[in-house]
Amino acid sequence: MRYALISDIHGNLEALEAVLADLKKERITAYLCLGDIIGYGANPKECIEKVKSLRPEILIAGNHEWGVLGLLELSYFNEQAASAIEWTGNVIDGGDAEYLKTFKLSSSDKCMTLVHGSLEEPKEFFYIFDANDTDKTFRLLKTKICFVGHSHVPGIFSFDGKKPAKVKGMNVKLDNDKKYLVNIGSVGQPRDGDPRASFAIYDARAGAVEIRRVPYDIRSAQAKIIAAGLPPLLASRLAEGH
Ligand code: ZN
Repeated sequence: MRYALISDIHGNLEALEAVLADLKKERITAYLCLGDIIGYGANPKECIEKVKSLRPEILIAGNHEWGVLGLLELSYFNEQAASAIEWTGNVIDGGDAEYLKTFKLSSSDKCMTLVHGSLEEPKEFFYIFDANDTDKTFRLLKTKICFVGHSHVPGIFSFDGKKPAKVKGMNVKLDNDKKYLVNIGSVGQPRDGDPRASFAIYDARAGAVEIRRVPYDIRSAQAKIIAAGLPPLLASRLAEGH
C-alpha cells in the first residue's frame, strides 16, 4: 500500500490542486485526510468537494471542522480563526456539514494511527511542534506509526521506548525497533518558514515515509482571501509560510 496523507488544507484550493497534481505521478493506493479541510482560506466548499472526490479511506476531524459544526466554542480560537470559521459556516451548506460530521477524532488499525493534534485527549487538539511534545502520544501509541497535522510544522520523530527524538530531514526508512510519529505539515497554510504546500507519502510495504513540498499559486489564494473580506493577515502569512 502506498498512502498519500494530506492535512490542514484550510480552504486553499490552489495549494490542494498543486498537491494533487504532484500525487498524480505517484502510484497512490489510498488517500488519508487528517482534518482542517476548511477555515482560513476562501474555497472551503471547493476543497470539501475535491477531498470527497478522492474517496479518502479515512477522514479525521480537525478543530476547524469542530468549530464550524459548533462542537468547539469560538472562544477556543484566536480572532482571525474565529472570524474565518464564522465566514466558512455561512459558505458551506447542509450537505457539506453532514459530510464533516462523519469525520472521526482518531483512527487506528493494525498498521497505523491517525489523529489531527495528538493522541493525548484528541478532542483537546494539543499541538506537536518538536520532540518534547511527542512523549505522551508515543506512550499511548499502539501501532508502529502515527500521523498528525494541526501545528502546520512538518517533522518526523522516533521513539526507542525510552526517549523521543527528532529524525533529521524529511525522509525516513522505518527501523524495526522504533515507533514513529510524523507531523505531515499543512497543505494550505504552512508555518515552518517554507511557504510551499506540505504533505506526505507512506509506502507501507517499503516501510518508508517522505514529507514532500510543492510550490503553488500563492498570489491567487491571497487575492481570493482579500476579495472574500477575510482577515488580511490570513493572506499575507501564506507568502511567509508561517
Ligand atoms: Zn490547521
